[in-house]
Amino acid sequence: MFEKILVANRGEIAVRIIRSCREMGINTVAICSEADKDALHAQLADEAICIGPYSSKDSYLNMERILATAVATGADAIHPGFGFLSENSRFAALCERCGITFIGPSTESMENMGNKSKARNTMVKAGVPVIPGTEEPVIDASEGKAFADSIGYPVIIKAVSGGGGKGMRLVEQSEDFIEKFETAKRESKNAFGDDSMYIEKYIGSARHIEFQVLADKHGNIVHLGERDCTIQRRHQKMIEESPSVVLDDELRKEMGKAAVKAARAANYYSAGTIEFLLDSSNTFYFMEMNTRIQVEHPVTEMVTGVDLIKEMIRIADGQKLSIKQSGIKMRGHAIEFRINAESPENGFLPRPGKVTDLHFPGGNGIRIDSALFTGYKIPSFYDAMIAKVIVHGRDRKEAIDKMRSALGEVVITGDGLETNIDFLYELVCNEAFIKSDVEKINKMLEKMCR
Ligand code: ADP
Repeated sequence: MFEKILVANRGEIAVRIIRSCREMGINTVAICSEADKDALHAQLADEAICIGPYSSKDSYLNMERILATAVATGADAIHPGFGFLSENSRFAALCERCGITFIGPSTESMENMGNKSKARNTMVKAGVPVIPGTEEPVIDASEGKAFADSIGYPVIIKAVSGGGGKGMRLVEQSEDFIEKFETAKRESKNAFGDDSMYIEKYIGSARHIEFQVLADKHGNIVHLGERDCTIQRRHQKMIEESPSVVLDDELRKEMGKAAVKAARAANYYSAGTIEFLLDSSNTFYFMEMNTRIQVEHPVTEMVTGVDLIKEMIRIADGQKLSIKQSGIKMRGHAIEFRINAESPENGFLPRPGKVTDLHFPGGNGIRIDSALFTGYKIPSFYDAMIAKVIVHGRDRKEAIDKMRSALGEVVITGDGLETNIDFLYELVCNEAFIKSDVEKINKMLEKMCR
């Protein structure tokens, strides 16, 4: 087993990884930017090395610095967390070249699934249902329009290298296609340095249902059930829960089987997520595969009792999966709400600041993943997500009751700091959320973002 793992990330996910390493008796190295010298991840790790200035490009995305730090500190593996370099196949390849294990899938799987167009084609070949769409990347707008006209509207334009909802546009009618295609393309070029696009039929009133998979290097693959992430703001997840209210055992089995098939087609090992869209007639389609740990992984951990980070580490070490499909049971109901430093009244604009008062709830079935502490100055250079509240109840009603109680207790105040806590509290009390009327919630969110 690894003796020392470098955690190439920051914030709550870095803290969460460090904690699992500690439990496993593995030493940790934190990297941080100059803006993060006092950050919790840097304090909790056995060693912390400041690798560069605040900008991500010079620190958390600086591959050479990170690898030099791993070599200098004698780390034998790197966990990338999510975001930053977690889906960068060049970084994974560089790790291997330096004799350092990348805790994630192979570079080939990352490349093949990271290109959404290639991923679609792999799934078609494997017999996993995909959304009707273009088979090859499209760069020319009129070519794209001809395709969209032929399958009929609405369609969704997506970036081949996309993520985080960027470079994505819904087009309701032919007249709007060219303009939306060009803006999506520009956005994609800016965000991902790639302006190849693909076009899919837009599936209305669909649920975003994703399956967590775990696969080892010996060909064993299991799924750990689904997460329902339909509640989104600007195509970005806000609330996630497991199980989904719309899946029964039979459909779960069928979609779980498709998820395992998808992972096998990707020659996958490590933890990964297969994202599906499920329409109102219970037909499901592969959307994409995320080749990393996800923000919302704790809801799966709460209902299955499996520590996904520990499993990723064991798999990277070459061990066989410690669990079989028949041993995975989903128990109760878990929900996650993301707390952001932002102002819901002002179009959700980021509002970081210094934390002066902090209180988190505790108790049975309440989990807080956060890197906050009193006196901490939240830097403005990174993501606005500052904490996750995850609850686990015997059923959805109990989970909602726990979330309401937990959110009602949270205090995060400070100089210049605003959060979405009150907004989330209103949401958990909202009749539409309680009834899981996700369409109504999403419409409300859309209105607030205008
Ligand atoms: P990203 O990787 O940028 O998050 P995804 O492909 O996962 O992009 O899509 C983000 C969200 O957009 C999905 O969760 C879903 O709600 C919506 N979406 C994506 N494709 C479609 C589609 N073809 N029809 C309807 N909604 C879609």
